[in-house]
Amino acid sequence: MLGKSSTELVRHQNSALVLSALRRSGRLSHTQLAEATRLSSATVSAITAELERSAIIEKSEQQAATGRGRPRVLFSQRRGCGYVITVIVSSDSIQYSLVDYAGTLLDRFAEARRGAAPEFIAAITAGLERAVERSSIGREQVLLVSISSKGLVSADAPVLVWSPVLGADAVDFRLALGAGWGGKVILNNETLLVAKALQQRLAREGEAPASLAALSLGHSIGLGIARITRDGETEISAPNFGHMLHIPGGALCRCGARGCIEAYAGFYAVLRTAFEVPVDTVPAKFVPLPEVDKIAQQARQGHRMAGFAFRQAGIALGNGLSRLLSLHGHMPVRITGPGMRYYDLMRAGVEEGLAQTHVVRLSGMPQLDVVPDEPALVFEGHLGLAFQRIDQDILSMRAPIQAAGE
Ligand SMILES: [Zn+2]
Repeated sequence: MLGKSSTELVRHQNSALVLSALRRSGRLSHTQLAEATRLSSATVSAITAELERSAIIEKSEQQAATGRGRPRVLFSQRRGCGYVITVIVSSDSIQYSLVDYAGTLLDRFAEARRGAAPEFIAAITAGLERAVERSSIGREQVLLVSISSKGLVSADAPVLVWSPVLGADAVDFRLALGAGWGGKVILNNETLLVAKALQQRLAREGEAPASLAALSLGHSIGLGIARITRDGETEISAPNFGHMLHIPGGALCRCGARGCIEAYAGFYAVLRTAFEVPVDTVPAKFVPLPEVDKIAQQARQGHRMAGFAFRQAGIALGNGLSRLLSLHGHMPVRITGPGMRYYDLMRAGVEEGLAQTHVVRLSGMPQLDVVPDEPALVFEGHLGLAFQRIDQDILSMRAPIQAAGE
């Protein structure tokens, strides 16, 4: 049988509504599911019975708060239905987390990262094997491997085009991880995941704006945008913001170009300016946070060059954001990453960099807020995207089999 009949299509869409409501809220009763999905009680009964038969969701009982009366029956994703491994690549380490289908974190460990692309790939393959061995699960039970890195990621394949970690040594994870893991890998820019997580958090509170930007400050500068389309879908992207031109022919950037935003706003740029090192000096590979803390302390005590270094970083970011708003329209900006702790020193510069432009003079300053705990946001973004994909795949794989038996 080719294609799906309209009845099947509706059933598929309704099942997707039920799964995504359970994803958002955790465990829900029949009544809560009907409210959340706006489906009729009978439809919810039919869908939940079917998803339960297919071992995708499960029922559990919750005793009423008073301890009397019949316990409440709650539905949730079935934990053992499959697993996700998230792999978070940073400059000095790779962190692995194993999560079950209901979103529960089962195991987490990190390993040091060193070496060029071949060594990096071998380390990830070994890390994935270790993750399944530690929890005694089969490789085939892992439904998706979700990798993130800073840098430029191809929009339509798991290819890391450029990264601070490997430079222009592009890595195609589907090919590199081979038959064992390559078929189930997705790759995303780290700040794109932050934007996804922020959008999810706000949607849960019923406050999601039409678009929002996440700006990550650190050794490199990341940007993620989450936008809700007319069909109500979330579209997320991570433009190459850190390496967007700030000053033509300006300071030398880690990417090899001159005048990038990062070459003024990254940690190495702050260090370079504070110590009055020439702007064509090759950027430091890594600047430990305590070094930047020291410069920040000096700036707060009124040291001129230290203060100027952060202000200049702020202006580069503000100018960059003004271009973002000119191209994509007004949107709130959430500032995160390890550099967020210096935002008090950059804020005047950011606002100055924004205020000069037409878009801000017309529509006012965008809402700028600092959000702590970037690692938690990155992980939430991983799970949000991975399970969205898995839920869709599970339903698509299941429907034709059932239809054939009918
Ligand atoms: Zn650059």
